[in-house]
Amino acid sequence: MQTASALDNVSIVLVRTKTPGNIGAVARSMMNMGLSRLVLVRPPRDPAGDMGKFAAGAEALIANALLCRSLQEALAGHQLVIGTSRRRSRQRKNVRTPRALAEAVVPLLGSNRIAVVFGPEVDGLEKSDLALCQEIVAIPSADAFPSLNLSHAVMVVAYELFVAALGTALAAQGPLADAEDLERFYGHLQGTLERIGFLDRDSYCERDRMMFSLRQLFGRARPEPRDISILRGILTAIDRRAR
Ligand code: SAH
Repeated sequence: MQTASALDNVSIVLVRTKTPGNIGAVARSMMNMGLSRLVLVRPPRDPAGDMGKFAAGAEALIANALLCRSLQEALAGHQLVIGTSRRRSRQRKNVRTPRALAEAVVPLLGSNRIAVVFGPEVDGLEKSDLALCQEIVAIPSADAFPSLNLSHAVMVVAYELFVAALGTALAAQGPLADAEDLERFYGHLQGTLERIGFLDRDSYCERDRMMFSLRQLFGRARPEPRDISILRGILTAIDRRAR
């Protein structure tokens, strides 16, 4: 079935989850909505077997989950990285609802792998985690109590992806540059901008803020591998001149 194969390219990435039962409940939500790829970054121990209890039949998803030490490691091989956060930041312009996200990404799923990243209970994703995300999804919720339970947040996003995938013919969108290529490009860009004096090596705060804005800008463009090669070529030419 076409829907199933498209959704196979969605990874749900849980970062530093604290409560084992939540991981079980996430697995259940995912299986309900036809998702199967679960990635766990530094998951908690589960002495009471809560993961299995809350998975209620979706244990296989946890058994097959990929375990990672860092978010960066978890994102390898993904072309599009979506963070989830209820908080609004003035720096972020591309914050969408799960529905808008699902409509935009489902046509890409034929040839791209997408990671949706969820943070730990209470604290949510850190700034350094969010910097690795090209877009942010915020689930609209009541101002007085905006934070959802982790597995409920996964369910809302998974449901919208499932509905958007129903009956959507896969568009002929080529593969996008993956997260590792993008990180190499941002490293190169930062080095070049420091070399030519556009970024101040010593002013970390200002430099990181500018790099964050540039990540947003390039993230919105959804570059393909060829676009990244062109940009790297331009940077190499600038490096040569600057020397
Ligand atoms: N207090 C934290 C929320 C932690 S809830 C915060 O302000 O970010 C755990 C995770 O559930 C979050 O990291 C996020 O991935 C997801 N989540 C909870 N409520 C959400 C919402 N309204 N929109 C998007 N993601 C949400």
